[in-house]
Amino acid sequence: MFSKRLMDVPESGTVAIANIVSQLKQEGVNIISFSMGEPDFDTPDNIKEACVRSLRDGFTHYTPSMGIPELRKAIAEKTTRENKIACTSKNVLVTPTKHALFMIALAYLDPGDEVLLPDPAWVSYEAVIRLAGAKPVYVPTKFEDNFCMSVDKVASAITERTKMLIINSPSNPTGSVMPKDTLKGIADICIEKNIRVLSDEIYEHIIYEGEHVSIGSFDGMFDRTLTISGLSKTYAMTGWRLGWLIASEKDIAAVNKLQTHSITCCTSFTQPAAIEALRGTQEPKIKMVEEFKKRRDLALDLLNDIKGVECNRPEGAFYLFPKYDYKVLSDDLAMYLMKDAHVAVTPGRSFGPAGEGFFRLSYAASEENLTEGIGRIKKSLSKL
Ligand code: PMP
Ligand code: GLU
Repeated sequence: MFSKRLMDVPESGTVAIANIVSQLKQEGVNIISFSMGEPDFDTPDNIKEACVRSLRDGFTHYTPSMGIPELRKAIAEKTTRENKIACTSKNVLVTPTKHALFMIALAYLDPGDEVLLPDPAWVSYEAVIRLAGAKPVYVPTKFEDNFCMSVDKVASAITERTKMLIINSPSNPTGSVMPKDTLKGIADICIEKNIRVLSDEIYEHIIYEGEHVSIGSFDGMFDRTLTISGLSKTYAMTGWRLGWLIASEKDIAAVNKLQTHSITCCTSFTQPAAIEALRGTQEPKIKMVEEFKKRRDLALDLLNDIKGVECNRPEGAFYLFPKYDYKVLSDDLAMYLMKDAHVAVTPGRSFGPAGEGFFRLSYAASEENLTEGIGRIKKSLSKL
């Protein structure tokens, strides 16, 4: 009855856990959630005000499908300045980041194509690859290597069917940041083997140590790289559904074809607010990242203090990906913690085969909740 395409894909593991959490909260359960990957901060006031102004000004109709010109310009300027990817408005498509991913899969992948992605990786990559009829090929990473793909591992996963490689640095679910020389080595292979790169840089500003490097900035990479990012994480704007794709003009035109047949354009009145986010004060973002760093350190100390739990020190995003030494599958562990501790975490297995034996904890939560929630995890694990 449903398409084979749909039946091949499970529900999003991250969103599924979040849905259970909101149901339990509605029922009055005192649940502490470390499941959802979204900042718990409010969208800064200057951005909200810009949105209200545009509503009042009656900016409530369709916009050009690629986004309003001034926003495309602001994104191009930001990308040239911060990401060192020299580009203009013509290289920008304004679109929700997750929708960019979906359109890219439909625009570039055919049945039989292989797509390399890190193992573990964010849940929706495998899903969109499968929906497009292509084959996800996981490149294993190791806890000991801070979950970074190595140049050798990427090279050995390539076949004549490899069409695309996904990079996500800083990473969801591990928080790891890929070193520049590894990215350069991977870029060289992609050029040599004629492979496209999808670089998901949504956590580009949430970084505590090391530097964020865009793979699309290396010589010879612009024309083969699809760089996606957005406002959700940097400016605590997950509900606004606003992001972008940076690519060659030819690629933007191709993906825009899908935009015109799907969402038409992004919401109109949020686009002037996005200009304010990019060009206005960056103070709230800086404060938020400082706060996340404190929480990372706190959560790390608390987790590493639990018997049978070990966690490395991620340099970015707001996730910890601890491994545990209990004989229980990560799906079952997450359910056990939900029932016994009233704490929500995401099972590591949702993020790929290498995620088995791990769980993901989002520390986009108050210090009080981190202390209480990880305390509850400790108590529940001690009973296993
Ligand atoms: N990429 C990664 C790695 C993510 O974690 C997320 C989750 N928000 C997205 C893309 C999608 O971002 P958005 O919700 O802004 O579409
Ligand atoms: N990216 C976030 C997460 O991993 C939000 C949910 C989703 O889009 O997967 O939790």
